[in-house]
Amino acid sequence: MDNRQEKDMRVVVIGSGIIGSSVAYEAAKAGAQVTVLEAGRIGGGASATSFAWTNATGKRPQPYFALNVAGMRAHLDLAREFGHAPWFHQSGSIEWYSNESDWAAQRDNADLMSNWGYGVEWISKARLAELEPEIDHSAISNSPIVYYPEEGWVHPALYVAWLLRAAKEKWNAEVRPFCGAASIDVHNGVAKAVKTIDGSVYEADAIINCTGSWAANGLDGVPSIPMASNMGILGFTLPIATTLRRQFHMDDLDVRPDGAGRLMIHKISVDSTVTEIQPLDPAGEQALLLLEAVQKVLPAVRKGDMESIRTIVRPIPSDNLTCSGWIPGVEGYYVAVTHSGVSIGPHLGKAVAQEVVGGQAHESLTDFRPDRFLAAKNGMGARS
Ligand SMILES: Cc1cc2nc3c(=O)[nH]c(=O)nc-3n(C[C@H](O)[C@H](O)[C@H](O)COP(=O)(O)OP(=O)(O)OC[C@H]3O[C@@H](n4cnc5c(N)ncnc54)[C@H](O)[C@@H]3O)c2cc1C
Repeated sequence: MDNRQEKDMRVVVIGSGIIGSSVAYEAAKAGAQVTVLEAGRIGGGASATSFAWTNATGKRPQPYFALNVAGMRAHLDLAREFGHAPWFHQSGSIEWYSNESDWAAQRDNADLMSNWGYGVEWISKARLAELEPEIDHSAISNSPIVYYPEEGWVHPALYVAWLLRAAKEKWNAEVRPFCGAASIDVHNGVAKAVKTIDGSVYEADAIINCTGSWAANGLDGVPSIPMASNMGILGFTLPIATTLRRQFHMDDLDVRPDGAGRLMIHKISVDSTVTEIQPLDPAGEQALLLLEAVQKVLPAVRKGDMESIRTIVRPIPSDNLTCSGWIPGVEGYYVAVTHSGVSIGPHLGKAVAQEVVGGQAHESLTDFRPDRFLAAKNGMGARS
């Protein structure tokens, strides 16, 4: 039921990935009249090709860890709010390292996480066999095994679809795919409107840039965010008859179920085999490297089981930390860009809505302001 008044704040969100959809949903819920402008398909950027592990393990410094934990909690809140969350699987994750030289670092990290209140359990091989009977114990040998019960994963395309649908149906948000923003009209230091590539103009009281790695290219009229984005490669297998329910992380290999028996595979060392987005052969070099690594752990996986393999740019602000706040010198123009966006997204949505629509700074974002990159020219962009 929409009961908007004409004086509702007009908010334009640029980008419809996990960050843009979270921000749009929360801003609409907070009372803004929201329009989402998306250059391509809805949710078709990095969020569509993300391992999408919800976690905070190993994330430092502490405020960044806390931001990720807040995101994990916000996923649970969102699931309760919707009554069901077909996009979210909080099934825990399993971690081990095959080389003894990595065990001390693993223990130090687990101890620190535990001290910071994160769920950490050291489990035996027998317990692992109960949790995941198809993991081959010979691949583990006598490696210590950590189980993180609070972690999980998300299907970002479903997340985006459900949140934007709710924003449209409950609060009359408008969502425009294939409608890329070209520039921001700024008058006397105040952002007034977004101009799109097709020449349309969207007037706004606040404009929120959620363009992920594209935040580096910038929009005409406003400063861009320095990014150190890098390449990611994900493999997707054929449907495989396996009962694997949890993700596992062995050395630099990450594997999780992706629905209908398919597995999603990521290996950090394989990422660096490409330098730009390109089609990859599911029987090619990268696919073989990924399958070979998984086969050692899950014998159900066979050579030739890759169905597709995708490349994508991973959005990372240049100091690896979240960047969220008003842009100095451009009143009314806000940027929300981060790595680990799947973990952080639902919390960031709430925090950004509080700042933009509610006009109140959110404490969790204090350490992540864009002014660490951009010096103010005409005074701070923050609204009072
Ligand atoms: C391989 C890989 C693995 C990852 N693993 C994890 C993980 O396990 N856990 C985790 O939390 N995070 C992970 N991440 C990071 C996470 O996926 C990202 O932080 C998150 O998806 C970023 O979401 P976003 O909405 O900011 O960006 P995107 O999803 O890229 O969305 C930005 C959108 O903006 C649109 N856009 C760009 N320019 C314009 C314009 N001018 N006008 C209109 N629209 C525009 C794009 O088309 C795009 O749809 C991973 C990323 C990769 C690539």
